Amino acid sequence: MDLYEFQAKDLFAAHGVPVGPGQRVVTDAVGAGEAAAEFGVPVVIKAQVKAGGRGKAGGVRVAADPDEARARAEDILGLDIKGHTVRRVLVTPAAAIAEEYYLSFLLDRANRTFLAMASAEGGVEIEQLAVERPEALARVPVDPNEGVDLAKAREILAAARFPEDIRDQAAAVVVALWETFVAEDATLVEVNPLVRDRDDAVLALDGKVTLDDNAAFRHPDHADLVDAEAEDPLEARAKAKHLNYVKLDGEVGVIGNGAGLVMSTLDVVAYAGAEFGGVEPANFLDIGGGASAEIMADGLEIVLSDPDVKSVFVNVFGGITACDAVADGIVRAFELLASVNKPVVVRLDGNNAAEGRRILDGAALPGLLRLDSMDEAARTAARFAAKGA
Ligand code: GDP
Ligand code: MN
Repeated sequence: MDLYEFQAKDLFAAHGVPVGPGQRVVTDAVGAGEAAAEFGVPVVIKAQVKAGGRGKAGGVRVAADPDEARARAEDILGLDIKGHTVRRVLVTPAAAIAEEYYLSFLLDRANRTFLAMASAEGGVEIEQLAVERPEALARVPVDPNEGVDLAKAREILAAARFPEDIRDQAAAVVVALWETFVAEDATLVEVNPLVRDRDDAVLALDGKVTLDDNAAFRHPDHADLVDAEAEDPLEARAKAKHLNYVKLDGEVGVIGNGAGLVMSTLDVVAYAGAEFGGVEPANFLDIGGGASAEIMADGLEIVLSDPDVKSVFVNVFGGITACDAVADGIVRAFELLASVNKPVVVRLDGNNAAEGRRILDGAALPGLLRLDSMDEAARTAARFAAKGA
C-alpha cells in the first residue's frame, strides 16, 4: 500500500524524523486559509495525490498569508495530476530551503538485500538524475541483519557526497528513516527533498512510503491508512473475503488455483485474445490450493459482478485439493449464486481430473462449458468475450 505524503510524514514524525512544525490536511480553500492563519507564517499548500511530480504540475505552492493560502488551495483543489484528481491539500509552514538532497531505502529484490540511495542533488526528478548523472546517485547496500546505525548512515552520506558540515545532523535523520522503514514494515521510504534549511536543520519536506501488505497482520493501526475512497470496490470486496484478487483492464474474468497458474493463465488469455481484437484478462484471482466451494462461490461472485467481465475462465490444476473437490465446489457455487449470466469456461486437469470432469458434465450447469486444454479454453473464453456474450 502506497501512502499519501501526510501519512508518510505522520509515520516519520512518530519515529523521530523531523518534518517541520506541523501540518493540516483540508478539503477546501476556506480550511486552507484557516490553517494558514493558525500557523501564522508563510505556508506551503500541497496536493495530496499518490503521484510524484506534483510540484511541476502546479500542485505545490507557497502562500505568504491566509488570503493567498485560500487562493492557492483554490488553484490546486480539483487539479488533475497524472490521472489523480486533487481532493485534499496539505498545509504546512514553509521551510526556508538552503539545499535539497535525496534519500531512500528500498527492498532490492534482485540482490536480496536492502538498498540505500542518496544524492546531494535532490529536489529534481531522481529517475532523470539516475540516467543522466548516475555518479551523483549513491547506491549503498544495507545488510538486513546489521541495519543502519550512525556509522552506516555516515557511510551512505559520504558516498552521496553530502556536505561535510551537515553530515552529523543528516546521519541522525537517516537512522530515524531506517527505523521507520523497519518498524513499519515498509518496502520503500523515500524523501525528496530532504533539505537543509537556513538554520542548518535537516528536514524531510516530502515523503513517499510503501508498506508491505504481507506484514499488515503485524500492524493493526495501518488499517486506518487505507484510502477507502480510492480503493477499487471489487478489490475491497475481495479483500474482505480474503481473496487474492487484482482488478485488470480486460474482459475475461480469470480464476485459478495457485499464483503461478493464474499468471500463466493471464498470459494465455492475452495471447488468445489478440486474435479477437485485443481481448484481455479482467482480473487476477488466485483461490489458493485448498479451494472450498465457498471460496469458489465467493470468487465467481466477485468476478461475475465485474461489469467489465464478458466471460469467465476457471483454470484449475488439481493438487492437494483434487479436481473432484473443485468440481463439487463449482457445482455448489452455481447453486449459491442466484444466476450466472455470463459464459463460464472451465478447464480441470491434474489430480482426479477424470472424476472432476464427470461431475461437471453430470451437473450440466447452464452457461458452463468444459474444455480439456488450457489453450483451447482460453481461446474460447476470449471468443465469448469478443462477442460480448
Ligand atoms: P513533488 O513535486 O510531488 O515531489 O513534491 P515536493 O513535496 O517534493 O515539492 C516539490 C518542490 O517544492 C520541492 O522540491 C521544493 O523545491 C518545493 N517545496 C516543497 N516544500 C517547500 C517548502 O516548505 N519551502 C519551500 N521554499 N519550497 C518547498
Ligand atoms: Mn518530492
